[in-house]
Amino acid sequence: MPAAAATLGNSLHASPLRDGARTHSVLELSVLVLNRSFVAVHVVNVRRAISLLFRQLAEVVHVEQGQYASYSLENWRELSQLQAELRAHELAHGKADDHVLQDWVRAIGYELQAPRVIRLTNCDRMPRQGLRFNRRNVFARDGNRCQYCGERFPLSELSLDHVVPRSRGGTATWENIVCACVACNVRKGGRTPQEARMDLIRQPVRPKRSPLLALKLGNPRYESWKNFVDRAYWLVDLSEQVS
Ligand SMILES: [Zn+2]
Repeated sequence: MPAAAATLGNSLHASPLRDGARTHSVLELSVLVLNRSFVAVHVVNVRRAISLLFRQLAEVVHVEQGQYASYSLENWRELSQLQAELRAHELAHGKADDHVLQDWVRAIGYELQAPRVIRLTNCDRMPRQGLRFNRRNVFARDGNRCQYCGERFPLSELSLDHVVPRSRGGTATWENIVCACVACNVRKGGRTPQEARMDLIRQPVRPKRSPLLALKLGNPRYESWKNFVDRAYWLVDLSEQVS
């Protein structure tokens, strides 16, 4: 194991960064994971990605102006060092480019740029196909908004509602389950929207891609992911711990 990697592995730190109103650690940011054939299979956090790099199970895939380049942890560290110097130089000369969204992981003596995409060099696994129909994905599809009153709620105050009640043969499908606040759910009871005179703000449909992934793709930080997930219809599952 290279000495630099060992140092890094033993001394990972990340400075908190401001992301809107929310402060979180660089180590908790998301990294897209590709299999050996550059197919997106998973999403992990920076901490996990660095651990995979450190164990030489993965390499960084860096996308710049539409070109891909692969880096071992050691090479990525060198590139990061060079970029840190360039950034320092630009800051000193007042021409730092605010549009470059980079996040930095600090290790003893140097900084490592947080990877956005890594590739598992020994993995031929293909992504799970199909979108999982679960609570989290329904809430994400509906943007945590009650589909009757149109208000947004914290997850703890949301429930799933059968549009056509189970007692009337309504099934648990993307087309018949919506996000509803507790008050609306209780008010609607075992009735159809027509009977309850409660209109849906939007007709529920099966999403074309993972609603959680769609949220990530809207964030400029994960711009480079589009190179791997736009042309694929693969539905990447986001793991629970990823922010
Ligand atoms: Zn409601």
